[in-house]
Amino acid sequence: MSVMNYTNSDNIEFSIELKYALNAVEKSTDFLNYLRNKSVDISPSYKLDKSPVTIADYGSQIIILNFITKKFPIDNFITEENLNIIIHNDQYYEVINKLVKQTVPEIDIKKILSYENKNRTADRIWAIDPLDGTKGYIADRQYSVAIALIENQKVIVGVLACPKMYKLISKKYNDRKGYVFFAEKGKGAFVKALSSKLIKKIKVNSKNKFAKILYAESFDNSHINISTHHKFSNILNINRPPLKVDGQIKYSLVAAGDISFYLRFPQPLNYKEYIWDHAAGQLIVEEAGGTVTDVLGNDFCYEKSIKLLKNTGIIASNGLIHEKLVKVASLLV
Ligand code: AMP
Ligand code: MG
Repeated sequence: MSVMNYTNSDNIEFSIELKYALNAVEKSTDFLNYLRNKSVDISPSYKLDKSPVTIADYGSQIIILNFITKKFPIDNFITEENLNIIIHNDQYYEVINKLVKQTVPEIDIKKILSYENKNRTADRIWAIDPLDGTKGYIADRQYSVAIALIENQKVIVGVLACPKMYKLISKKYNDRKGYVFFAEKGKGAFVKALSSKLIKKIKVNSKNKFAKILYAESFDNSHINISTHHKFSNILNINRPPLKVDGQIKYSLVAAGDISFYLRFPQPLNYKEYIWDHAAGQLIVEEAGGTVTDVLGNDFCYEKSIKLLKNTGIIASNGLIHEKLVKVASLLV
């Protein structure tokens, strides 16, 4: 399998892990586009927590695991979807097998299904959200594909493919195939159009005048405590309404300086966030010069779970305003 060479003016040497993660999200977004272009039935079924899952989520996860397990067969994986449902349903298996082969003809699904592996206590874990913002994908809004590599409880690689950026900020993000935002610990954060090999360094903005600041929150009001968000922006006299965005694209927008912060007071407040919803975004914002904590100002604690059990909510910001944001958030917890 070939790994693409990326063109960067700073001559930064990226790790093989990052390159494989980039290849994986490129293939998975091709697959997700293919399903939509061919009008494949993506109607959801519902998991125990009532969140939707579609053929697109399963197929994308299989394609990502195909790439990562080939190169790193002994690594551990925490993935959003449970592929057992495919193993035990012959009809569903055949449909998915046929569809993923349209994008990756050589794929051996049976082998990938045998990789189902959730060793949450390992020192090295890939956290994968194959379709982050499933509701956004179904409704043709925003969605991302997220891959993070966590070593010794620190995120060291983060990749976020965001295929629908042109729908948010059409002038800046005009490539219709979308963009991939990525970071490696200590090497900075970058963006690349999915259709190109040219990469560009990104940086958070330096805005600190709250009256003019733009921030983002979940598109889905059932995922956040909307009245606390209103109180929060009132205390800071923020005049602009928040940008409503599905999935981890909110982190990409902070990292690239398009917005100044991303706020998430979960609903209910004791809701614990899944690590695949935040790990890639956290590193990308931090490597772009920003700060990411929970609403109380605590660092994320990646410990022996698929969830951030010791954290509450999210504040990801340009860093400059972080202390003030945490101070106000702490009044509202
Ligand atoms: P977003 O589009 O930012 O709301 O992110 C989507 C993710 O929100 C989903 O993948 C879920 O894991 C997560 N989620 C679902 N319910 C809640 C909730 N009640 N509070 C916070 N996050 C949630
Ligand atoms: Mg998600």
